[in-house]
Amino acid sequence: MRRGTLFVISAPSGSGKSSLARGLLRAVPGLEFSVSHTTRPRRPGEEDGREYHFVDEAAFDAMAAGGGFLEWARVFGHRYGTGRVAVNRALEAGRDLLLDIDVQGARQVRESGMPSVSIFVLPPSFSDLEARLRSRGSEDEDELHRRLAQARREAEEFRSYDYLVINDRLERCVEDLRSVVTAERRRVSRAEGEAGRILATFPGR
Ligand code: ADP
Ligand code: 5GP
Repeated sequence: MRRGTLFVISAPSGSGKSSLARGLLRAVPGLEFSVSHTTRPRRPGEEDGREYHFVDEAAFDAMAAGGGFLEWARVFGHRYGTGRVAVNRALEAGRDLLLDIDVQGARQVRESGMPSVSIFVLPPSFSDLEARLRSRGSEDEDELHRRLAQARREAEEFRSYDYLVINDRLERCVEDLRSVVTAERRRVSRAEGEAGRILATFPGR
């Protein structure tokens, strides 16, 4: 069976990555969201096991110590990690996965040697980024400044990724992301099994 593909998406906080990920998952059949573990408190509207597995520091420590994370990082004061077993299980079953992780985590995935397709999202400009973070209203002024200060350092990382998309208009950008997923699925190396099944219907030489 074809192994699933690991898609990794990163962006400076407030670029619209979560909105894009939601749009992409709706638009592309057979792409699953990888639910991370986090020690951050749940936001209103979030559900345990859907956006994240919400765990306490001790549970996170235990999982990290046991090598349970493919990658993990501290982001804005909280820890976030991708469960190794869940990822392997999905990929081995031929399912494509979307990892919404920060630049530190994406670096660890690259360094792990696990094949992946990485996508970086930039906002159209810094002022758009600031306006979006403000409009979301989920951070206080200090936290907002912390995220904006970090944004430049994160944005510089775009060169380490395979693809770059600009989130100008949400729907248009989702289309770009969809094109990336479609093109990657059409690589001969990934579509070989399908070709084999079709060729098997041809009369023998
Ligand atoms: P991130 O996950 O990158 O931190 P969000 O998806 O939470 O960002 O988006 C930040 C804010 O910007 C949200 O209020 C969201 O509705 C808004 N937003 C996202 N994409 C766009 C866009 N293309 N145009 C305008 N606003 C956007
Ligand atoms: P938020 O708290 O806004 O949901 O996410 C904050 C940041 O943590 C985002 O950049 C998000 O991509 C990142 N993040 C979410 N899950 C993971 C994860 O499992 N690993 C890493 N390294 N970052 C994550």
